[in-house]
Amino acid sequence: MPELPEVETVRRALEKRIIGRKILAVESNFPKIVSTPSFKTFASQIKGSKIEAMFRRGKFLIFDLSGGLSMISHLRMTGHWLVTKNLPDSKFIHLKLKLSDGHTLAYSDIRKFGRIWLIERQDFALFKPFAKLGIEPLSKGFTMEAFSGRLAKYKNNIKQVLLNQQVVAGLGNIYVDEVLFSAGVRPSRKVPSLTKTEILKIFKAIRRILALAIKHGGTTVENFTTPEGGTGYFQNKLKIYGRKGQKCYNCKGTVSRIVIAGRGTHFCKSCQK
Ligand SMILES: [Zn+2]
Repeated sequence: MPELPEVETVRRALEKRIIGRKILAVESNFPKIVSTPSFKTFASQIKGSKIEAMFRRGKFLIFDLSGGLSMISHLRMTGHWLVTKNLPDSKFIHLKLKLSDGHTLAYSDIRKFGRIWLIERQDFALFKPFAKLGIEPLSKGFTMEAFSGRLAKYKNNIKQVLLNQQVVAGLGNIYVDEVLFSAGVRPSRKVPSLTKTEILKIFKAIRRILALAIKHGGTTVENFTTPEGGTGYFQNKLKIYGRKGQKCYNCKGTVSRIVIAGRGTHFCKSCQK
């Protein structure tokens, strides 16, 4: 599933190519990809509007449109956006937005778990999926104080707590494993047992690893592609995720894998306490 760095990579790539373009036509072979409003209303409301800006919140992409509307997209497992003049003939392309410069902004999703919403910008506060989202880890509001304050509310293991979007927005399985390896903390550790120093190490690792992953265009595992059809490069930089049975880069021990919260979790028994 695309996590914060992949969604941010998509946002940056789309921003360069679609801002200022008008949406001339709207088509879908799977209208349910639009969660709210009905597809008919969605299509009539966005037709003729201009794409003014793009933002990201956690793993959500936000397209600000003229007329005070925002289109919000969550890619879930296999969703991706592409911008092209030569759209491939694919049954997995569920939404086509014809743009005024001759390109088509298209949404493709093999497993169809992704969703799109259209809301009035003034109703942002009422958009339920945002109401519960935690701190944006690359924002100024993400301080050691704010982070440890959030953690203090939880008693379960740190892996599960970092995966919870209500704590830090945008982290997922890959980056949580990377963060905890970098911080030297075992994923199974209960949050109340963490020392201040360990929390500080986790806090710093979150910022550092996410920023580095964005710099490398995200991680391509399974089928993440950028809107240009390219892949990310951070998979070459992963230190622990997906390395079960291989040698730890740090101590030459063997990387372990266990399941926590239903997710494959990678760690090193000697480097992570
Ligand atoms: Zn190790």
